[in-house]
Amino acid sequence: MTEQDTAPPHFRVAIIGTGFAGIGTAVRLKQAGLDDLVVLERADDIGGTWRDNTYPGAACDVPSHLYSFSFAPNPAWSRSFSPQPEIWDYLRRVAKDHDVVRHVRFGHAVTAAHWEPGANRWRIETSGGTVTAQFLVSGCGGLADPAIPNLPGLGTFRGTVFHSARWRHDHDLTGRRVAVVGTGASAVQFVPRIQPRVERLHLFQRTPPWIIPRHDRDLTGPEGWLYRRLPIAQQIARKSIYWGRESYILGFVTNPRIMKGVAALARFNMHRHVKDPELRAKLTPSYLPGCKRILLSNDYYPALTRPNVEVVSGGVARVTPDSVVAPDGTERAVDTIIFGTGFHVTDPPVASWVYDAEGVPLAERWGEDIEALRGTTVAGYPNLFILSGPNTGPGHTSQVFLIEAQIAYVLQALKYAARNRVDRLEPRREAQAAYNAMVRRKMAGTVWVTGGCDSWYLNSKGRNTTLWPGFSWEFALRTRRFAPHEYHLRKERVRAGVAA
Ligand SMILES: Cc1cc2nc3c(=O)[nH]c(=O)nc-3n(C[C@H](O)[C@H](O)[C@H](O)COP(=O)(O)OP(=O)(O)OC[C@H]3O[C@@H](n4cnc5c(N)ncnc54)[C@H](O)[C@@H]3O)c2cc1C
Repeated sequence: MTEQDTAPPHFRVAIIGTGFAGIGTAVRLKQAGLDDLVVLERADDIGGTWRDNTYPGAACDVPSHLYSFSFAPNPAWSRSFSPQPEIWDYLRRVAKDHDVVRHVRFGHAVTAAHWEPGANRWRIETSGGTVTAQFLVSGCGGLADPAIPNLPGLGTFRGTVFHSARWRHDHDLTGRRVAVVGTGASAVQFVPRIQPRVERLHLFQRTPPWIIPRHDRDLTGPEGWLYRRLPIAQQIARKSIYWGRESYILGFVTNPRIMKGVAALARFNMHRHVKDPELRAKLTPSYLPGCKRILLSNDYYPALTRPNVEVVSGGVARVTPDSVVAPDGTERAVDTIIFGTGFHVTDPPVASWVYDAEGVPLAERWGEDIEALRGTTVAGYPNLFILSGPNTGPGHTSQVFLIEAQIAYVLQALKYAARNRVDRLEPRREAQAAYNAMVRRKMAGTVWVTGGCDSWYLNSKGRNTTLWPGFSWEFALRTRRFAPHEYHLRKERVRAGVAA
């Protein structure tokens, strides 16, 4: 057998993940005529976030007309904030309609990606075998790997433990004594759904969220009819949601004092539902709204006033074989612990298995302060594009909008490479540094760093490496064109038989 026979399959582009990022990239590449691609997915179906988060009440909190691809409007959304099964179906349908599914290798968890400088390509090791690719696009997601806090004694717990992103549907909660740890976006959605079923629900809260009403509407009636017959009406609805959301930046970034008005509204919302002053005191945040994600709910506060619910402030100190212990030493006997504690955000797992030419993983090069050029490419790691990379998250709008902006950037880069016979592009360190100096300047006065909270947006040094500090259209402008002067470019010499 020759080396040719045993060589792993090679592609022009390898994409990791089948969430909005992976599917969106594959569709756009195919539309641009690039069919030589593979999509590597560790799970056995398409969907990312919307395949994995099946907890009761899971839904988007950005209206569906905006929380969807610009190139694939869906007039059939049932509600303004559509439930998880519909978003999952939508993604599967987009993948099928655009002929992406045949490119996907399911059950292929990527465990390592090594840059091979001699060949100018990535060697990608997966649980299903090795592939090589000239370009690697990570669509591994910013919220794909659940984080469970390392609580003392957790391993000794005799009951059932799970994270909301890996809901145990085989574990009937009827009549159970349940501890819910965390009060973020997922807990606010599932707590009202499980409260009527459980015997007792102890909600361990470290920091209360700001909550405003959720204006959810049925779209199956005349509105849906209109969108099916007059697609432009849906475009207008999408645009008006988009610009309404952009206005939030005036409070988040331009002048955080505006958020005091939002706090007054949110307090009014709480007072309508929570009459007990002691409970209100526990549920009132001490930071400005927006510093942590503002949550939308009409049924969270009412659920917390039910007699079988207790809110425990201060978080969790430790776990025993059959209880959860609060910092004041009081103990709650439970048989189930559900973590709504979020994801690995400031330490993206992808960085631990992407290696540069010297075999150093990106996580080591990055350290705490993860950063990229235009949120997407990283010095030292050629031909790599990280979607939902550092400082690309939206605090106010649809992440799909920012993902599409990144995809447009990837496309520009690949087109440039093809046109100019470039087989290696790598950001210049000075370009990356200048870009991130700009990000830090913009971030300085925002509610995310001045609002007085400790959020999952921040790394352990208190730096916000997660969010884009501005209007989302500004990010789209900055990623609209690939700027060759920001890159070291290498012409195709290996292919022509000339040593690089
Ligand atoms: C419960 C929940 C609700 C949300 N609601 C909203 C919302 O309303 N609005 C909003 O803007 N954002 C929301 N988000 C954020 C959401 O994650 C993004 O909007 C978007 O879905 C991210 O898409 P993605 O493709 O980047 O990542 P993901 O959807 O996370 O997809 C990543 C994919 O990569 C795969 N993968 C990861 N690692 C590997 C590996 N090593 N090998 C192979 N495959 C791998 C995963 O299996 C997964 O399929 C929500 C997130 C959660 C968790």
